[in-house]
Amino acid sequence: MPLPENPWILDSVPKSNIHEVDHIVRLINRLEKNRQVKVLVVDDAAYSRFYMRNLLEKHKLTVYEAADAYCALEILAGEPDIRLAIIDYFMPAMDGLALTARLRETYSRDELAVIGISAGGSEHIPERFLRGGANDFLAKPFGSGEFTCRVINNLDRLDTILEIREAAYRDYLTGLYNRRYFMEAGHKLFANAQRGNLNICIAMIDVDYFKSINDNFGHDAGDQVLRQVSACLQRNLRKADLVARYGGEEFCVAALNLNYREALRVFEKVRATIEETVFYVNHKPLHVRVSIGVSTHLAHSLDDMIREADRSLYQAKHKGRNQVVVNLK
Ligand code: GH3
Ligand code: MG
Ligand code: MG
Repeated sequence: MPLPENPWILDSVPKSNIHEVDHIVRLINRLEKNRQVKVLVVDDAAYSRFYMRNLLEKHKLTVYEAADAYCALEILAGEPDIRLAIIDYFMPAMDGLALTARLRETYSRDELAVIGISAGGSEHIPERFLRGGANDFLAKPFGSGEFTCRVINNLDRLDTILEIREAAYRDYLTGLYNRRYFMEAGHKLFANAQRGNLNICIAMIDVDYFKSINDNFGHDAGDQVLRQVSACLQRNLRKADLVARYGGEEFCVAALNLNYREALRVFEKVRATIEETVFYVNHKPLHVRVSIGVSTHLAHSLDDMIREADRSLYQAKHKGRNQVVVNLK
């Protein structure tokens, strides 16, 4: 496999086709992202690893090399954020197909891309790689251009999936996690708490008389208040706490290891901070208050805990708003 002649030239394209120009734009975008991307090359042939490492490093990727499957598994265990593995078929001890199957027990196609490579052998190897969990296949010997395109395509696809996933889990207005994410992550948190005998607490936070903010200052002003309340919540809770917009002007928090007294202290501080904060809408100062209902009793399910927190919130509203009620069960 020849090395590209000029080490300073990354790629060259004919000007005849507009899509080739698009390819250059993608290439430049990738170069910037690639600095954070780790790739593993698994091949028993040293010259083949050297050829691929060279091409990948030209594209600013961080490259790890393994001469056999066991070495590859060891590297992956230590570097769980490797995004792409390029795996040769013919290798001693464990072949590329077996290694791909092993990797798929731990990593999905959307977390770790696998490109199978092989020189000759059975005509079924490409198909077996693709069926067996590889995202792509390349027959050796391959040129630098094709290799680069496959690598870029696979990394771009992983990025797109991440972006879609992130968008599906985020609330557009506030940037907080949304209810869907809260329920998914909350169920995991709840199960861990049950297994580990940990304490978990759920808080529902609702803006008082929010409708009147909309009515008096307009819907846009209401949106600005929601953004500022979100930022205030994030600033005043721990990084490990799960904070989400549950819907409308209601937020929810799942926090680990807060007993009754600690939960009361933490959420009373949140309530007081919001009361004391001067919010600005259209450059005019405005005061906002919240009621908070907290459930600290590890119930049968996350849904039960949310219902408990909701009941406490209802009591806080009923008792005059701008206060925290923590259930005592
Ligand atoms: P309470 O003190 O009992 O909570 O009264 P409230 O006015 O806060 O509650 P209510 O449920 O009566 O009204 C909530 C309002 O929130 C109604 C709805 O139009 C508004 N709202 C929901 N989502 C949004 C949003 O994304 N932006 C804005 N600006 N308003 C929203
Ligand atoms: Mg409200
Ligand atoms: Mg409400």
